Amino acid sequence: MDLKQYVTIVQDWPKPGIVFKDITTLMDNGAAYKYATDQIVEYARDKNIDLVVGPEARGFIIGCPVAYSLEVGFAPVRKEGKLPRETIKVEYGLEYGKDVLTIHKDAIKPGQRILITDDLLATGGTIEATIKLVEELGGIVAGIAFLIELTDLDGKDKLEGYDVLTLMNF
Ligand code: IMP
Repeated sequence: MDLKQYVTIVQDWPKPGIVFKDITTLMDNGAAYKYATDQIVEYARDKNIDLVVGPEARGFIIGCPVAYSLEVGFAPVRKEGKLPRETIKVEYGLEYGKDVLTIHKDAIKPGQRILITDDLLATGGTIEATIKLVEELGGIVAGIAFLIELTDLDGKDKLEGYDVLTLMNF
């Protein structure tokens, strides 16, 4: 299946000059969403994954059906102030300024094999911060899966040495 046909390109959103890849049109097509999910499940199947971890909000949309299919749990990575119990946090750079991602301290047990999911790899900042959280808790990043990689932004450079799957390149 050619998944690209289900991604909608939105010019100048959220700001002038940005060409946004909208995956909601992929998700609301049952066959396309299932196909994309199945590709990631197949990729992860032989990796002995114990837990799927994804950053809000679209990392949940990709990661939860994968976790369900692999019959493992899912742990959310969220912006600061959103998780109710003790968390660890990491700061990461945005184009302008900084942001913070957090995870519950007890979400991962040391030695657990983790699959990280997100919808899209751009500069790699979000996923790099997510990796830091997983590794700080002693998790082993066994795989990282995205629907989309924006190849011009070289986010993959930040993921050297990791096992990465991307379903579409733009
Ligand atoms: P990065 O941290 O620069 O790699 O940006 C990736 C994050 O920004 C992901 O969590 C995406 O959800 C979001 N993102 C950036 N650009 C787009 C886009 O064109 N479509 C959907 N999400 C995007």
